Amino acid sequence: MTILEEPIKGVFNVKNYVHGEWVDSEGEIVDVVNPATGKTIGKVPISTKNEIDNAVQAAEEAWPEWRRTPPLARVRCLFRMKELMEERFEELSRIQTMEHGKTIDESRGETRRGIENLEVATGIASLMMGYNLEDIASGIDEFLIRQPLGVFGIIGPYNFPFMVPLWFIPYAVATGNCVVVKPSSEDPISQTKIAEIAEEAGIPPGVWNMVNGGKTVVSGMLENRSIKGICFVGSTPVGRDVIYRKCGETGKRVIAQCGAKNFMVVMPDAKVDQTIAACMTSFYGNAGQRCLAGANLVMVSEGQAETEYNNFYKKFVDKFVEAASTMKVGYGLDETVQMGPLRDKSKKEKVAGYINKGVDEGAKLKLDGRQLRIVGDWPKDAFLNPTVFDDVTPDMRIATEEIFGPVACIVRAKKLQDAIDMIHKSPFGNSAAIFTQNGRWARDFRYSVQCGNIGVNVGIVAPMAFFPFSGMKDSFFGDLHGQGQESIRFFTESKVVIERWF
Ligand code: NAD
Repeated sequence: MTILEEPIKGVFNVKNYVHGEWVDSEGEIVDVVNPATGKTIGKVPISTKNEIDNAVQAAEEAWPEWRRTPPLARVRCLFRMKELMEERFEELSRIQTMEHGKTIDESRGETRRGIENLEVATGIASLMMGYNLEDIASGIDEFLIRQPLGVFGIIGPYNFPFMVPLWFIPYAVATGNCVVVKPSSEDPISQTKIAEIAEEAGIPPGVWNMVNGGKTVVSGMLENRSIKGICFVGSTPVGRDVIYRKCGETGKRVIAQCGAKNFMVVMPDAKVDQTIAACMTSFYGNAGQRCLAGANLVMVSEGQAETEYNNFYKKFVDKFVEAASTMKVGYGLDETVQMGPLRDKSKKEKVAGYINKGVDEGAKLKLDGRQLRIVGDWPKDAFLNPTVFDDVTPDMRIATEEIFGPVACIVRAKKLQDAIDMIHKSPFGNSAAIFTQNGRWARDFRYSVQCGNIGVNVGIVAPMAFFPFSGMKDSFFGDLHGQGQESIRFFTESKVVIERWF
């Protein structure tokens, strides 16, 4: 077992970044713990109401000059950020593994996707153009101009500490807005590194601010009238009941990307080996802590004689369990490891609680992830192995609630339509995938399933940076989405000018 060199030596003190200055907070200081090793690798402040207000004021004061800065001058800073991130690619990725727990390959993927958002935002001069039409009446012309709004608040979740804020910040800043970022206090170091890079790349003071903390910082953002919009990614109760509601009351724009329960539908003509390979990443990648993770595996028997289908089912489930049971679990800085720990002990306990519930509900536990098989002598606090339940019925709690851990629930359905009905009964609508060789089934699925991100023979339906990251029902609250062209509309308001000269 070889562990890659850790870029964080000792304990890293996270500070706030306000008006181009690194400032200590007066708030309580809490530990950032590496979930694999149990070591404290950082200290992060839980900032106060005053501190968030000061950061918003700094952003507001920086805005008039930033909005007048030509778009190409603005994005030159983003080009420099991209270059600096490429140079520090491996360090940035290893930090994610240290503070979150994911494998180094997953972190490298996360760094790459974060950089891709910067790359797309550098096209702002074209993306942000308005349009016009001459002679709407004789001698009169009409224009649509896109203008930035001012200050946006960006609130991140713990499961993608590097990438998620970058779904929004590059577009906000490129369109001429200023931002205040609040990373998850569970793994805030990645965003500190990004803010350091923004500073080095020449983003002017006050344009890109960061305040660490929790609820106080979030409610400070929501109450502050100078914040024109909020981008939130996190759980449904917070996104729907706190963020979306309060933004409605205070007239802020909002993108709230929330929780999920994703269905992977396997038709009897699916290619077994390729589907299982896709499912392993989907169900167990990031230790199941992904809003796009597979949760329910729906095995559909449509068009098959009973014995023929039973053979297919048994072969598929046996191979699935075999692949899950041989996944290598350990510290993500060991490059041979395929799954890291959960973010912390309480998250592991929550998932283990769902495994207990599944057993109580009568599902068949084919593979019990509580029986640890870990590579390396690490504290066991946050680790679980992949878990598989068979004979799950669609009404069980393990099949309906977001578990957010490495647990696969296998459910049977007779017809594709039964699987689609199951998906529609779920309160969530983030993502669903079908595995089949039949174009008609694939088309019916894509056409009718009420989810924002649909996969056809693809297990993790993560939209590229030039497509919006969608979501429906309890998985998304707002009108426009982050990333690509839609985010340009979110971060700008349209002004219409009608011009006539006498
Ligand atoms: P969370 O809701 O606990 O926290 C998200 C953010 O909100 C954090 O910055 C946190 O400090 C803050 N927060 C937490 N409780 C708050 C409260 N009561 N009032 C105000 N702010 C509060 O979510 P999490 O555990 O960090 O992230 C996991 C969740 O995020 C999962 O449900 C997952 O599905 C979801 N997620 C969704 C997407 C998506 O695109 N739909 C992407 C990633 C994660």
